[in-house]
Amino acid sequence: MSEFDRRKFLSSSLLSGIAAAALPEILFPQSKQKEIRKAVVISSGNGLSATAKAMEMIQRGSDALDAVVAGVNIVEDDPNDMSVGLGGLPNENGIVELDASVMHGPTHRAGAVASLRNIKNPSSVAKVVMERTDHVLLVGEGALNFARMHGFKEENLLTEESRKMWVKWKEHLSTEDDYLPPHTIDDRNIGSKFHEVMQTYGTINCLGKDLNENISGVTTTSGLSYKIPGRVGDSPIIGAGLYVDNEIGGAGSTGRGEANLVNCSSVMVVEFMRQGKSPEEACLLACKRIADNTKMKRLQNDDGKPNFNVTFYALNKRGEYGSASIWSGGSFCVNDGAINKKSDSAYLWKR
Ligand code: ASP
Repeated sequence: MSEFDRRKFLSSSLLSGIAAAALPEILFPQSKQKEIRKAVVISSGNGLSATAKAMEMIQRGSDALDAVVAGVNIVEDDPNDMSVGLGGLPNENGIVELDASVMHGPTHRAGAVASLRNIKNPSSVAKVVMERTDHVLLVGEGALNFARMHGFKEENLLTEESRKMWVKWKEHLSTEDDYLPPHTIDDRNIGSKFHEVMQTYGTINCLGKDLNENISGVTTTSGLSYKIPGRVGDSPIIGAGLYVDNEIGGAGSTGRGEANLVNCSSVMVVEFMRQGKSPEEACLLACKRIADNTKMKRLQNDDGKPNFNVTFYALNKRGEYGSASIWSGGSFCVNDGAINKKSDSAYLWKR
């Protein structure tokens, strides 16, 4: 290209760049235009490091699924987060069993593992299930063999801290069994502090929209602490703990998995967004549906409302996001490319 041609080319491409930049302003009103975010990442409240990592990758051109999985890997690897991966709270026998799922919007594929032992990154195994099998969900021994086959390293996931929590739970489970917490000659009702060591939930969900405007998500967890071995929650079940429709948006959840399993909640959030609801409205409507469907008295408080919590996280095709819980106290993290922050989720009722 001659110097003259090169200059002509540069100035004409500069002009067409300006014209292209001005075009959206003509096509869309200013207010609407501001709402369109090319890239955004949202996660549950324990995911600030995950949203930061995922956005950093997305801005370098990564596919949203690669980015959100790399993001949650940080939390899975953290022995101090007792809700996922290494250091997750174990089942009633003291064995850590992990659940995870991924969903890739542009190809509408998914992969998942449930009751996976000894592998600290179940989200990565779920991604390999999606990429390297014709299946969606592998469980237990089969999932572990598959992970071994693909070179995942086996390790003991029970940290000292989570082992001590499990022992405490076992010792306070009943005053009538043979396990005794530390006590003195004067103590009676030994092991009666059950409420202090109750079962807990904990999970990370992360959804991202990348520079190609594709949406993907991941949910990973050690599930309900001290669960019956083999118990599977909502996290690895597509439609319950995670769902993505690339044309509409994505949704995921944390909290009482059984409520999401019987309400297909994440797909419900996406369907509410398809009907035109904002991500936050869609999350609130799913919370309301769960409350309406909670019929068993043992799961209700004195006012007939659910005595448990569930939180949803959602992201739509325009890059709008939202989160809501049944009860106040929920939180979410979001990275819109400018800031990485933690905020309170909306809620149906204040505790
Ligand atoms: N939903 C997860 C489960 O039920 C737990 C959680 O989110 O805390 O396994």
